Amino acid sequence: MNPMDFIESLDPQILLGASVAVIVIVAAAFLFSSKKAKGCLDPQNFKDFKLVKRTQLSHNVAKFKFELPTSSSILGLPIGQHISCRGKDSQGEEIIKPYTPTTLDCDVGYFELVIKMYPQGRMSHHFREMRVGDHLAVKGPKGRFQYEPGQLERLGCLLEALESLQCSRFLGQY
Ligand SMILES: Cc1cc2nc3c(=O)[nH]c(=O)nc-3n(C[C@H](O)[C@H](O)[C@H](O)COP(=O)(O)OP(=O)(O)OC[C@H]3O[C@@H](n4cnc5c(N)ncnc54)[C@H](O)[C@@H]3O)c2cc1C
Repeated sequence: MNPMDFIESLDPQILLGASVAVIVIVAAAFLFSSKKAKGCLDPQNFKDFKLVKRTQLSHNVAKFKFELPTSSSILGLPIGQHISCRGKDSQGEEIIKPYTPTTLDCDVGYFELVIKMYPQGRMSHHFREMRVGDHLAVKGPKGRFQYEPGQLERLGCLLEALESLQCSRFLGQY
């Protein structure tokens, strides 16, 4: 029996039920696969992230790589916003400072911070003492600036206009 004969021989109600089931399964699979990965940050509470790699970039600058809960997790930090990091200074006092990760949400499973450590800096002390396996308490996202696609282009146009205005003023003087 060829497939068309087989389909025609089926009860129309069974056929309808099977079609509905197929549509539901396909729709569920589509929704599941297109569901946006959820970020790992909590704006109200600090969450701990494990330091998995530390790379010294210069005498006082280092790159810190932190692991996210799963290999497919994203940090969930919108462009233009930052995070608050909590640590302890050399006196053991709690200190909270803002930092901007150098990674984006297209970097999955981890995020990185590039930190300049000042000799007397309070949070700098915390980062200087951090070793692989230690945890950093992070809260966020923070910041009022929300980047919208195309904003950079508009900013570029504005700067170009200001630049030509400055040029024409300069040329007008001579
Ligand atoms: C939105 C935002 C994002 C940021 N992102 C980053 C980032 O990605 N990476 C980064 O490295 N920084 C970043 N910063 C800066 C960061 O928040 C801290 O200000 C920086 O790390 C210094 O903090 P600290 O506690 O170590 O230094 P502080 O204790 O605030 O000291 C600052 C300066 O004062 C000097 N100082 C402190 N105590 C004394 C003292 N007793 N006598 C003399 N001098 C002293 C220190 O040497 C240093 O030069 C960001 C800041 C903002 C606002």
